[in-house]
Amino acid sequence: MGDKLSRVALVSGGSRGIGRAAVLRLAQDGHDVAFCYRSDADAAQALEKEASELGVRVLAVRADVTDAQAVRGLAERTEDELGPIDVVVTSAGITSDNPLLLMTDEQWHNVLDINLDGVYHVCRAAIFAMMKRKSGCVINVSSVAGVYGNARQTNYSASKAGIIGFTKALAKEAGPYGIRANVVAPGFIDTDMTSTLQGGVKDRALKSIPLGRMGRADEVADLIAYLASDRAAYITGSVFQIDGGITI
Ligand code: NAD
Repeated sequence: MGDKLSRVALVSGGSRGIGRAAVLRLAQDGHDVAFCYRSDADAAQALEKEASELGVRVLAVRADVTDAQAVRGLAERTEDELGPIDVVVTSAGITSDNPLLLMTDEQWHNVLDINLDGVYHVCRAAIFAMMKRKSGCVINVSSVAGVYGNARQTNYSASKAGIIGFTKALAKEAGPYGIRANVVAPGFIDTDMTSTLQGGVKDRALKSIPLGRMGRADEVADLIAYLASDRAAYITGSVFQIDGGITI
């Protein structure tokens, strides 16, 4: 890894966790990178500075992925200021856990709106220009919960399984236009998302990971960068688990 590319990447949910690591990793590989964030302008600014010190152009845009118009604006600004989008990475996502019996409609819709509609909005905003140019690459971040299901996460698991179906359909539809679409499905990764888990839940999860530890955001970003590169030129419609073996 490490070939300099001079391509443009767009990352959703870039200011934190896996999205943030992807911004830095893609910048290291020579991509100019635009990323959106929902609320933390300070974190976004700090990342913009850190990534641009790697010698690429970086653009941070406040945009909520549930807002189709804001996402279209994000894609337009990216193309205007950085150039045609070559790589799309969707990392924006949330959890809001409850057993189905206690799940509120708000929890259900909030998770589906951000995790699944958000992916639709970002891909929809970028796809036309990619199809016109007959090249591009989409990497959607799902979860092992979308492959195997997690108790207390019917909403999250449904949204992440939806991303897998969406991406496979997109791979078939856009493949003839030279566009690849793949899914990265992380297991238990050490980010703010998992930092709120109670000790007992964390301990139980750790015991079921053959590699005996949580994954790191930069390890997921390495996989994303590989899929974005020409070394993955014949890979499309695939789901890549990165989970330390938790699902074996
Ligand atoms: P995180 O909470 O650290 O980061 C999530 C990012 O998404 C944040 O930057 C947040 O601002 C952004 N975001 C949330 N809602 C948004 C919205 N409406 N509009 C724009 N941005 C929004 O979490 P993370 O662990 O980095 O998760 C990144 C992705 O990886 C998520 O899709 C998550 O479901 C997935 N994932 C994480 C793990 C894990 O263990 N951490 C495991 C599997 C999958």
